[in-house]
Amino acid sequence: MDGGCPVCSGSMTHCFSAEVLGKYQADYEVCGACGFLRARDPHWLEEAYSSAIAAADTGLVARNFAVACKLAGVLYLALGERGQGRYLDAAGGYGMLTRLMRDFGFDFYWADKYCSNVLVPGFEYRQEDGPCNAVTAIEVFEHLTDPVAFVAETLKLSGARTLIFTTELYEGDPPRPDAWWYYTFATGQHIGFFKHRTLETLAEKMGLHFSSANGIHILSAQRINERLLRVVTGRWVSRIAPLFVRRALGSKTMSDHQLMLQRIG
Ligand SMILES: [Zn+2]
Ligand SMILES: [Zn+2]
Repeated sequence: MDGGCPVCSGSMTHCFSAEVLGKYQADYEVCGACGFLRARDPHWLEEAYSSAIAAADTGLVARNFAVACKLAGVLYLALGERGQGRYLDAAGGYGMLTRLMRDFGFDFYWADKYCSNVLVPGFEYRQEDGPCNAVTAIEVFEHLTDPVAFVAETLKLSGARTLIFTTELYEGDPPRPDAWWYYTFATGQHIGFFKHRTLETLAEKMGLHFSSANGIHILSAQRINERLLRVVTGRWVSRIAPLFVRRALGSKTMSDHQLMLQRIG
């Protein structure tokens, strides 16, 4: 995988080597212009996604719940969504976030090329159902070899003009291999790392706005009030918003249950 930076075409320089999956010597390189940092030629990916290794992701449930709480506030309070539209969780894994967002009252659907839908069968996203108001991609970007292509494909698939996502950012120089847990060399799944500037550059390249607060990043056609975003993703509002939003929109927990029973019967 030679060539320049997949975000800005800048030139990449070697920054460190590390052992991946306990056996492969991997080189990491960084873009001098936008700071995109990646594993060079990650030939181990197939092995990295075997389920035995995925079992090490003990944070899955807690992370999904925390993100769902923030998203409820972001969608309702910062984006003015009132539950009329539909939403897609791209690369949605087992369907945990889709289930939680439906429980909060948002008409969320699931898609994932690499994972089977365990928790929300019947809510797979189909393009013929119409475009989504927003699409989410939680802890996906650090798994991508080509983030620009992913953003373009995901917006096209969903018809949305707003992509809400999470990935840990680094600032300044690339952290040393032993100084940042997010590298997760032991699993080999994280192969691309961003700083704030990388995501701004990506947005510019795609003609979108970038905003970010409290770990929630947004690429959008419309400019978003970042001060409001900071408040709604903050500790207090993200605790209260889910309760308030669920009451305002009406949870889909029971109506989905009835729908599933009808399909069985
Ligand atoms: Zn770059
Ligand atoms: Zn990840």
